[in-house]
Amino acid sequence: PTTEKLQKVLARIGLGSRRQIEDWIRQGRVKINRQIATIGDRISSADEIWLDGRKLNRFHLQAPPQQILCYHKPIGEVCTRHDPDGRPTLFDNLPHLRHGRWVTIGRLDLNTAGLVLLTTDGELAHRLMHPSYVIEREYAVRILGKIDDTILKNLQEGVLLEDGRARFNRIIDAGGLGANHWYHVTLSEGRKHEVKRLWESQGLIVSRLIRIRFGPIVLPKGLRAGHAVELDQPGKKALL
Ligand code: URA
Repeated sequence: PTTEKLQKVLARIGLGSRRQIEDWIRQGRVKINRQIATIGDRISSADEIWLDGRKLNRFHLQAPPQQILCYHKPIGEVCTRHDPDGRPTLFDNLPHLRHGRWVTIGRLDLNTAGLVLLTTDGELAHRLMHPSYVIEREYAVRILGKIDDTILKNLQEGVLLEDGRARFNRIIDAGGLGANHWYHVTLSEGRKHEVKRLWESQGLIVSRLIRIRFGPIVLPKGLRAGHAVELDQPGKKALL
């Protein structure tokens, strides 16, 4: 559990200055769970704090700093902690994140690459993934097959999928050779397999799918697949 220095917590709730509180601790006036406290003791929110025999019923710990990572997911990993089918998970590749409460902000399919955000703030992950929260995602897609303007128009006007209407906000031609063609598509929600299902509704196959942006956060240029970096301060500010 999160812990914080006793005198820091007591000073913050206005009992006295940190110096004064350290004096009280030295004088044996402060107890943690009925044990006399010493300078340097740390407390968690589960502890009972006593001053001069009276229990403090109102103290809180500082919220731990918000940690957010940008991960460049390679193809071939699932975004869950444990996979019932034994496929590699992104936590197998980032074993240090198994400690602590890291969760992904949304998921990408096994064969999708690109930006996955991870955070220790479960509340943030929950809020950003809520269906009512509009956040634009951008994907680079490689499409196999012949594409005409009617199809691009349909996909931007909206088509009916089995779980309701869906559309791309924007489709940008990103060029291509031979049978494959790249597009950059944006959409404002993240239903399961939504990008693939949109193209499939037009009889087309997505042969590569890479998430290049999640809301204001762009997949960092130099970030190689399989690697993670901490989201910088401007990125955090833009996301929160
Ligand atoms: N849409 C998909 O079809 N797959 C993903 O992984 C993400 C969006």
